[in-house]
Amino acid sequence: MARYLITSAIPYINGIKHLGNLIGSQLPADLFARYMRARGHEVMFICATDEHGTPAELAAAKAGQPVAEFCAEMHKVQADIADGFRLSFDHFGRSSSPQNHALTQHFAGALADNGLIEEVVEQQIYSVTDGRFLPDRYIEGTCPNCGYDKARGDQCENCTKQLDPTDLIDPRSAVSGSTDLEARETKHLYLRQSALREDLDKWIDSKTDWPILTTSIAKKWLHDGDGLRDRGITRDLDWGVPVKRGDAPWPGMEGKVFYVWFDAPIEYISATQEWADANDKTDADWQRWWRTDKGADDVTYVQFMGKDNVPFHTLSFPATIMGSNEPWKLVDYIKSFNFLNYDGGQFSTSQGRGVFMDQALSILPPDYWRWWLLSHAPENSDAEFTWENFQTSVNKDLADVLGNFVSRVTKFCRSKFGEEVPAGGEYGPEEAALIARIQTSLTTYENHMQAMEIRKGAAELRSIWAAGNEYLQDTAPWSAFKTDPDRAAAVIRLSLNLIRLYAVLSAPFIPDASARLFSAMNTLDTGWPDDLNAALNALPAGHTFTVPDTLFAKITDDQRAEWQVQFAGTRS
Ligand SMILES: [Zn+2]
Repeated sequence: MARYLITSAIPYINGIKHLGNLIGSQLPADLFARYMRARGHEVMFICATDEHGTPAELAAAKAGQPVAEFCAEMHKVQADIADGFRLSFDHFGRSSSPQNHALTQHFAGALADNGLIEEVVEQQIYSVTDGRFLPDRYIEGTCPNCGYDKARGDQCENCTKQLDPTDLIDPRSAVSGSTDLEARETKHLYLRQSALREDLDKWIDSKTDWPILTTSIAKKWLHDGDGLRDRGITRDLDWGVPVKRGDAPWPGMEGKVFYVWFDAPIEYISATQEWADANDKTDADWQRWWRTDKGADDVTYVQFMGKDNVPFHTLSFPATIMGSNEPWKLVDYIKSFNFLNYDGGQFSTSQGRGVFMDQALSILPPDYWRWWLLSHAPENSDAEFTWENFQTSVNKDLADVLGNFVSRVTKFCRSKFGEEVPAGGEYGPEEAALIARIQTSLTTYENHMQAMEIRKGAAELRSIWAAGNEYLQDTAPWSAFKTDPDRAAAVIRLSLNLIRLYAVLSAPFIPDASARLFSAMNTLDTGWPDDLNAALNALPAGHTFTVPDTLFAKITDDQRAEWQVQFAGTRS
């Protein structure tokens, strides 16, 4: 038994995420966590909401709520949706937790003690009307390049030119529209990432098993241009982790908070502490996952994220950990994803284009989405969701292949032998061939799942389902029954055992359907088939079962057409 620490990139608190976000980190992380648990490993699966920063403040203001209240409500919304998709987090934490405040301040103090924090005085735009400094993207004005009148202080959305706020013509506050802006001096803390460049470079070089996509992004940031740059870790904001040096005040930094990019990844650790605190565990219980001096030496730590998050997880967060000079666990493997597009374009949160997580669950159960998303995960390139593809995949894979097998076997057995596993007959060459085929596929499936090759894992699982249908076609128990009922009994006995096997193997992908199959097969034996022959005799002759209701309903053409229109844009 091994130990796996698994984290999913943490979703921002502001708003409900779409299916592209779900398949970009949380869902594949859940698949891996479920698989590793099924194999008997010890798993700690952590996610959280990322709650600090200006967007949360502004969204709360728009909703007319104090920001802490807004975040608490949105956390509950996201947690409920995660439950709806059966995401099996051991803990779904909050980056605004007291634990994360303390740990973020601790890391900043340790980095300062090691000479890795620099205090920098700089000019920043201050809005007199709003009574606050404005981040670049919250200053709007006319683009000097193309004349677009809603260009942001960091970039013009229209012509994509990178801008400085001072480039804008007629700059104004995006918060209030006020033009009463001035440049003011303010002091910030910078993490001296450049001083850690060699250590990071060596560490990345040691990761020979990482995908090129991951290491090449890290190397680019390390070496392009001037190389890895120092990075501000504080902001002039109210909402966030107050700047402190460990437990002590930080002179000159009063009223400032840590920048959200600095405190968010630390929440992976803090959320594990939140888990311990919420479950009457001790510090040792969470530290054995994170501190290599307290038992985390034998932990394998895997992170899941979209490709846009790779630089932070290969450089910035490791810089925080290495720079602390404390024995915290560094990531062992990063599984990153490309993007999922929606029906000929992109998912758009602002335009309400595409299917959002709450909407998805309002029209179909979670397994339908889990199966499609995982079997089409954007692993090696961007992927695209289309309703035609979704309909085909659900109807063929889930309804025709898996659902139909279960239905035919259980209904046939009920009508000819009653609702119990039939005795009689012996397994012959056809059964031996089937078992050999499944054994080969099972080994392949296990290898793909271990390697986090998600699409390949899904394809192999589907082929294991299909093997059952082909076996049923070849052996035709409905014909055999007329002349040789014992032969039909043997086929059905094996087929009922296959249903239980399918429930075990499919659980990481489609946990609800799997639970229904276990219930129909009237068994609590969910053990992994380390011995396939034994697993296919788990339900002996005489064992009772029930015929389950339709496992997966087919998606009709009318439904498909209706949803296509419904999700085309302008979510209300
Ligand atoms: Zn422009």
